[in-house]
Amino acid sequence: MKLHEYQSKHIFAKYGIPIPKGRVAATAEEAKTIAEELGSRVVIKSQVLVGGRGKAGGIRLAKTPEEARDIATQILSMEIKGLPVRKVLVDEAAGIEKEIYLGITNDRAARKPVIMASAAGGVDIEEVARTTPEKIIKVHIDPLLGLRDYQARNLAVGIDLPKDHWRVFGQICRGLWQAYVDCDATLAEINPLVITAGNQLIALDGKMLIDDNALFRHTDLAEMRDLDEEAPSETEARKYGLSFIKLDGNIGCMVNGAGLAMTSMDLIKLFGGEPANFLDIGGGASSEKVAAALRIILSDPNVKAVLFNVFGGITRGDEVARGILTALREVKTTVPMVTRLVGTNAEEGRQILANAKMITAETLAEAAQKAVAVAKGE
Ligand code: GDP
Ligand code: MN
Repeated sequence: MKLHEYQSKHIFAKYGIPIPKGRVAATAEEAKTIAEELGSRVVIKSQVLVGGRGKAGGIRLAKTPEEARDIATQILSMEIKGLPVRKVLVDEAAGIEKEIYLGITNDRAARKPVIMASAAGGVDIEEVARTTPEKIIKVHIDPLLGLRDYQARNLAVGIDLPKDHWRVFGQICRGLWQAYVDCDATLAEINPLVITAGNQLIALDGKMLIDDNALFRHTDLAEMRDLDEEAPSETEARKYGLSFIKLDGNIGCMVNGAGLAMTSMDLIKLFGGEPANFLDIGGGASSEKVAAALRIILSDPNVKAVLFNVFGGITRGDEVARGILTALREVKTTVPMVTRLVGTNAEEGRQILANAKMITAETLAEAAQKAVAVAKGE
């Protein structure tokens, strides 16, 4: 789950990381009021769950409360990378001397969290990572020991941070680490962390990703989820306990088990197709769940074929088949469907599906090949 900038910075502040004064607004009038309260130049920042807002024109400075209102009106009517802006953060504007990058994530290859810093922070950090990766200093953190003071100091040295900032920089690194651990985050990032014209270190931007599988123990964080900002199909899938991720291809996949789902996607690719989604309906899926899954898959207009690959262990083949038929009664569709059903009650399942003009396959390879072919209209 992604948190908005204002939510991430609110968490950072609780962990002793300095952030600018400011508040979030849903209307231009509110933005004006906040600018009046702050009594300074402000920055109006679109709150959408994508990066690169600055480059898209979603971050602008305002000198007066009236200007803040006018800019907020404009930003609140924008779409950034397809997402409508519904809120803006109105922050006291900072004069910027230097932009630093600071972030923590998991390094899967090293099987450890890693804290990264760069003197070349700001809106082009992706470019820096690609072309001059040596400008990003990385320090791995032992999850049992946590971030040690000397590690934060090594980062400060690595990015040539002037010595008078080391103490606060260490405090920011520790705060970011503690927030990362306490929230079960998979990313906690400040870009830019700036040295202001007044020689203060302050987090101008904030981004956190929270591990969805840990949300059950963070009800306060779970409540921050912004449903307006998610692909509606993913919201719907979560309601039914389905693991669903939308992708860009045209072959919808309905599979039970994450490993089998990955394998099915690999085989689709092997035979020259592209999956439209990852979907794990889980073990013991009921017919309602199957119906919901099919509705979600078919709501994607790119889908030109659907591949069902179900191994009946706990999940029963006849339940799955009934679910498919239930869904097809609701969702009228001409999209061709290929099924491979094996395991518990597979025979009953196949009989049920025989009435439904389904293309059947014996093996996964055959199913994938048939799905690729029908998606191409062959
Ligand atoms: P992003 O583009 O979505 O990452 O949004 P950021 O919050 O990182 O803002 C992008 C850029 O806008 C920053 O790198 C700064 O250069 C600039 N910016 C953001 N806030 C301020 C501010 O208070 N004052 C000034 N002068 N620039 C700002
Ligand atoms: Mn940023």
